[in-house]
Amino acid sequence: MALDELYQEIILDHYKHPRNRGEVDNADVVISSDNPFCGDRLRLTLKIDDGVITCARFEGQGCAISQASASLMSERIEGIAVPQALDLTEQVLRMIRGEGVADVLENDELSALKGVSAFPTRIKCASLAWNALKKALNPTNQKSRL
Ligand code: ZN
Repeated sequence: MALDELYQEIILDHYKHPRNRGEVDNADVVISSDNPFCGDRLRLTLKIDDGVITCARFEGQGCAISQASASLMSERIEGIAVPQALDLTEQVLRMIRGEGVADVLENDELSALKGVSAFPTRIKCASLAWNALKKALNPTNQKSRL
């Protein structure tokens, strides 16, 4: 199977069978985001305990790339600390923009999003979930937890 086909398989699989679809109970952060160029919509909810993302869920609609990207992201970020998630986000966004693939992404399922960089109109679709995550991890967007 050609690599491009494999990437397409991964994206289609996540689109048809999205992981972590839904909503986190008592979410610490809720972010809604959309991509008007394609009509993609996303609502991301996270549970963050002691600086670690313990639960990530998303709801949304739109093209296969936007929804698959959110599904891939939700799987990858559960259980990792906020600074790590922010590093990962920057690496993925760079890859999507065609600015290089970090070593940690080479053998990661997330590299399925690499091919998007050849299609400028698709870059926004693939970035939607990651930009939402970046916003979600900004402390000013999280509910105060006293
Ligand atoms: Zn799209």
